[in-house]
Amino acid sequence: MFSTGLFASGQNLRLIVRLDDCYLSGDPKTERIIQLFTKYKTPINVGIIPYRNEDDTLNPMYLNPYTEIFVHGYRHKKEGTDEFSGLSYQKQWEKIQRGKLMLESKGIYPCCFAPPWNSYDEITLSVLKDVGFLVISGNEFGPKNNLSIKYIPSTCYSVKDALHLIQKGSIFNGIVVLLIHPYEFTSENDFLLLEKLILNIRNNKIKNLYFSNLTSLDENITGKRLEYHHYPLLYLLRSNNMLGFNKNVYYEMGLLIFINIIEWFLLIAVIIYLHLKKLLKLKYYQTLIVGVLLFILLLVSYINKYDSYRWVLLCKTAVIIFFIWLNNRLMLRKQLKEAQAR
Ligand SMILES: [Zn+2]
Repeated sequence: MFSTGLFASGQNLRLIVRLDDCYLSGDPKTERIIQLFTKYKTPINVGIIPYRNEDDTLNPMYLNPYTEIFVHGYRHKKEGTDEFSGLSYQKQWEKIQRGKLMLESKGIYPCCFAPPWNSYDEITLSVLKDVGFLVISGNEFGPKNNLSIKYIPSTCYSVKDALHLIQKGSIFNGIVVLLIHPYEFTSENDFLLLEKLILNIRNNKIKNLYFSNLTSLDENITGKRLEYHHYPLLYLLRSNNMLGFNKNVYYEMGLLIFINIIEWFLLIAVIIYLHLKKLLKLKYYQTLIVGVLLFILLLVSYINKYDSYRWVLLCKTAVIIFFIWLNNRLMLRKQLKEAQAR
């Protein structure tokens, strides 16, 4: 249905609007935002805090065809450092299960969970899987090793940024996940800007999605995509808005793999250059020790799922250096043998 290659014909960006911090009973700002999206028949994802107030009733405004509900935490209150991360499986399970059941009792069946302050841990992911959620929307740096969950992190935090991006367009395919809160709308201007964004979405034929759209599409939104999303080269390019990349876009897997390969080549080129400058010298037995240490390093990182972009870069560099070393030593050995034979 959607192209998942590097480039697409027509409009390359898709948008997910994620409105956090909404109450069951609603409030005037939330109501106004939802009305705007409904007026222009444009999808919005609304995050309800299930137990913010115990005896709230569900505002009927949420039950319109252009609003999809996701669960935003439990009470939105910290227990220790967070509402979820750091807590035991049992505690997290109780909160998430209770929130889900409460919404289901109102006839709402959410597929997506977005934790307060975008903060979650590996246990949260297991609980979500067991309770039956399909998608998590946290931040770009959250854990991502549970294979049963789809990861759609927030990438853009202001209506203004999203508007600029959509007006400018993008060469590469990707999703912009705009995270907004009702309390950020403090003036008439803020609502006007949002209306302008919606009009631009329509005029530029941007596909505006619900979280549930991405669960049914044949699109890679696994933890691997989230991992590649902050590999060093891409991270550098998009953080600085270089070469047509933008920090607010969650790029598609094809492009991420392509950038990852380029990163390997650049790294190899730099190290070969250093090698040719004769900066790497070791004796045979030292090379062997380094090889064993490297193997242990990679094993440890694999077992512990260390996959921060710095760590990945370190491992890649170490592996390349080791092979160049090895090649260097073997060549030298061959030359020595030849010299002895003569
Ligand atoms: Zn929140």
